[in-house]
Amino acid sequence: MSESKRLFFAIELPAPVQRQIVRWRAEHFPPEAGRPVAAANLHLTLAFLGDVSADKQRALAAMAGRIAQPEFTLHLDDAGQWLRSRVLWLGTRQPPRGLLQLANMLRAQAARSGCYQSPQPFHPHITLLRDAGHAVAIPAPGFHWAFPVNEFSLYESAFARGRTRYTPIQRWTLGNPERNSDEV
Ligand code: ATP
Ligand code: MG
Repeated sequence: MSESKRLFFAIELPAPVQRQIVRWRAEHFPPEAGRPVAAANLHLTLAFLGDVSADKQRALAAMAGRIAQPEFTLHLDDAGQWLRSRVLWLGTRQPPRGLLQLANMLRAQAARSGCYQSPQPFHPHITLLRDAGHAVAIPAPGFHWAFPVNEFSLYESAFARGRTRYTPIQRWTLGNPERNSDEV
């Protein structure tokens, strides 16, 4: 019996965007607002898979490799807070069709493979602060980060030495008829 891993599909952020987001967060939110997500951990979740065996991981990866979706541009022009889940997030006011279709396909494939999918509609977001259970003032987005998204990744979430780390373990290219998967 091989061990299972905690996995999810997500979009990685370019390092310069990660740095700008972290700077903006530090300028606008006091430490008591919540627990900051480490710069390298910032991501946009497409589909959460939960604990997955090696066999199921292979099946999910094979299905991901068959997805043919065009590239799209992600505009981060929105920010908000969900008090119930205690997160402060960055998002996009007009999610591109390509993003919604990609997430829908991955979520449908995950559900067919027996990975529980929340019935809540997909709301694309990047979590910036966790444990943000008290309403904080969210500054008018004085930012407008935009970047092209031409790949998506399978991430492993692992808790070690007191912290959760997300590590991309496989990537797939969008808008590429070869759709080859890169082992990271
Ligand atoms: P921890 O649970 O260790 O406090 P975390 O929530 O950051 O930390 P994970 O639970 O492994 O780490 O979640 C990984 C990613 O998947 C995060 O983006 C998280 O928001 C998302 N996620 C976790 N559970 C679900 C779920 N049930 N439905 C949708 N997305 C989820
Ligand atoms: Mg969690």
